Amino acid sequence: MKPAAFRYERPHDVAEVLDLLAENGDEAKILAGGQSLVPMMNFRLARPEVIIDIGAVPGFGEVAMYGEHLKIGTRVRHVDLERPRFKGPLSSLLAVAARHVGHIPIRLRGTFGGSIAHADPAAEWCLLARTLDADVAVASARGERVITAADLFQSAFITSIDDDEMLTEVRLPWLDADWKTGFSEFSRRAGDFAVVAVASAVRLADGRIAEARIGAAGVGATPVRLTGAESALLGQPLGTDAIEAASEVAGDEIDPRSDIHGSAEYRRDLVRALARRALS
Ligand SMILES: Cc1cc2nc3c(=O)[nH]c(=O)nc-3n(C[C@H](O)[C@H](O)[C@H](O)COP(=O)(O)OP(=O)(O)OC[C@H]3O[C@@H](n4cnc5c(N)ncnc54)[C@H](O)[C@@H]3O)c2cc1C
Repeated sequence: MKPAAFRYERPHDVAEVLDLLAENGDEAKILAGGQSLVPMMNFRLARPEVIIDIGAVPGFGEVAMYGEHLKIGTRVRHVDLERPRFKGPLSSLLAVAARHVGHIPIRLRGTFGGSIAHADPAAEWCLLARTLDADVAVASARGERVITAADLFQSAFITSIDDDEMLTEVRLPWLDADWKTGFSEFSRRAGDFAVVAVASAVRLADGRIAEARIGAAGVGATPVRLTGAESALLGQPLGTDAIEAASEVAGDEIDPRSDIHGSAEYRRDLVRALARRALS
């Protein structure tokens, strides 16, 4: 399979990237790790006229604390998150989720920002960004802005990033030691995209759940927050009864569609089981 003809650009600084995006609008696509874009071009599902390879642009490869957030540069690769650089529940959550992203060759090339910009409804990083209410920073020749994850994911493979904008970094709220995180995924084979995945983060105060964030991927066009399940946990001790009750609510509150990978009812069952595992 070969892609349609395209012009290849390899800018050496971000200003050049933004100029190329401004000049070429929706005819241009950024190439990051290429693990989604290249297959799509080879299958002729995408036919960009201009490819802007950001591989030679310095920076954007850092994982660092940024105030109350952990900022992840757009070019941080999936594999870079497998071994936590900072201790804590957020790093553990990232490390567990990273190991579910495709296979090792994909994790060695694919990038965090590329995954967020691609917005696959089953992607692990999109799920974490939505569950934790990430801020996504984008830049264009017009300036910079920050988009919340809730506003970013519009539909399957559609985001609110404009054609002339480049995603620069994602900021995840830092979770201190009072938080407990969990992640559970079901895919048909190891390395496949998730049929369903669930991520959770709960904050304990005096032995009871003071804050809860639960999200699911693979149950709709975008990752979703399971707000009913979150509410069911508040004020409860983190034990079997609370987990069972919240998992039941999680299965009831989603509205999945049936497809070749499973019926809507099967996905509801998966959400219940995976929510139980993530919270446990
Ligand atoms: C066999 C296989 C299995 C996979 N399994 C999984 C999986 O289980 N889970 C999962 O999440 N992913 C999976 N992937 C996809 C993989 O994670 C990709 O790496 C990721 O989706 C895209 O990242 P990338 O850096 O490769 O981006 P690219 O493929 O280079 O780009 C993807 C899209 O994002 C845009 N883009 C990239 N960077 C930016 C930026 N900075 N600003 C604006 N737009 C940008 C591109 O223009 C393009 O439209 C799999 C891929 C393959 C081939």
